[in-house]
Amino acid sequence: MPFIKVRDDLCKGCKLCITFCPKQVIRMSDRLNPKGYYVAELFDKEGCTGCGICARMCPDVAISVYREDKKEVPA
Ligand code: SF4
Ligand code: SF4
Repeated sequence: MPFIKVRDDLCKGCKLCITFCPKQVIRMSDRLNPKGYYVAELFDKEGCTGCGICARMCPDVAISVYREDKKEVPA
């Protein structure tokens, strides 16, 4: 199954990934990063298609996308 990973240290909680995810499988977590931002997280791994839109939209390059072969897909 495709999935994404969000780097907590890079996320600034702007929610662009949430806005643009066509499957609506990202949400804000209740975790604060060291900069004081709540960070985004994938909450429905079953629903992620690995399309990569979230990673392309993230202004802080905080999202990595993984597909079937478990390799990271360049944004
Ligand atoms: S890769 Fe696509 S489906 Fe998966 S979380 Fe990102 S935007 Fe949503
Ligand atoms: S677009 Fe990037 S910086 Fe903004 S909430 Fe999503 S992961 Fe965090």
